Amino acid sequence: MLTGKVCVITGGTRGIGYRIAERMAENGADIAIIARNFKENFVESFKEGLERDFRIRSYKCDVSNFEETKETMDSIIKDFGQIDVLVNNAGIVKDKLILSMKEDDFDDVMNVNLKGAFNTIRHTFSHFAKRRAGSIINISSVSGLLGTAGQANYASSKAGLIGLTKTVARELAQRGVTCNAIAPGFIETDMTNVLSDKLKETYIEQIPMKKFGKTDDIANLAVFLASDSARYITGEVIRVDGGLCM
Ligand code: NAP
Repeated sequence: MLTGKVCVITGGTRGIGYRIAERMAENGADIAIIARNFKENFVESFKEGLERDFRIRSYKCDVSNFEETKETMDSIIKDFGQIDVLVNNAGIVKDKLILSMKEDDFDDVMNVNLKGAFNTIRHTFSHFAKRRAGSIINISSVSGLLGTAGQANYASSKAGLIGLTKTVARELAQRGVTCNAIAPGFIETDMTNVLSDKLKETYIEQIPMKKFGKTDDIANLAVFLASDSARYITGEVIRVDGGLCM
């Protein structure tokens, strides 16, 4: 579905981002992965699991840093010659009730989750506009739709991503570039592994499908949104949450 496309995935070293990168590679794409930390031989071990030959490179970058992100996006365009798909997946949590949330807790989460996406988009905007093709996919959260106690920073950043998604969709629509958001519910990753069993049970009780989702559930949708089959879908927010937000 993605033959010949160059896909950039922020936060692609583990969890949802890693699976998106794997599924995109399986579907014919070349892959650029951005994160702050990479395990030794990350690229080699990523390739080992996949049968086909493709280009993959890792880029160490903190997406909350405007200049560092510019250098990274410029390097990717230079190394690969083009960017067709940009997945803004990098995200962090620093959960606390508002009464005990420090200014830094709020700023750090906004800077990675929301400003990080603005930074990558800002530094690829002209590239996408000139090529008159491409897909931008922002990984939001049901937290941004519902609000979650203890997540004033995270929910605000994820709600902000939806506003950013619709704005980018409008600004690039006539250039043939789409921008959509995926709003995952609870997905089994490092981010949710830290929840206590008791809290997990409470959340599962609220999910109509009575289970957490898998990284594949998000990755499969990301592949579709990145493909030409989704070329007339833009400004959309798609929940993948087992019915949590119905
Ligand atoms: P994860 O396992 O914690 O992975 C997060 C990824 O983001 C890592 O690769 C991490 O690498 C990278 N990252 C964090 N800060 C970064 C920064 N400043 N610059 C560049 N990369 C950075 O998270 P996940 O559960 O897969 O979640 C992925 C996305 O889905 C996030 O945006 C999250 O908010 C969203 N989401 C997750 C769930 C869920 O239930 N898991 C639900 C809704 C939405 P480094 O730390 O090395 O930089």
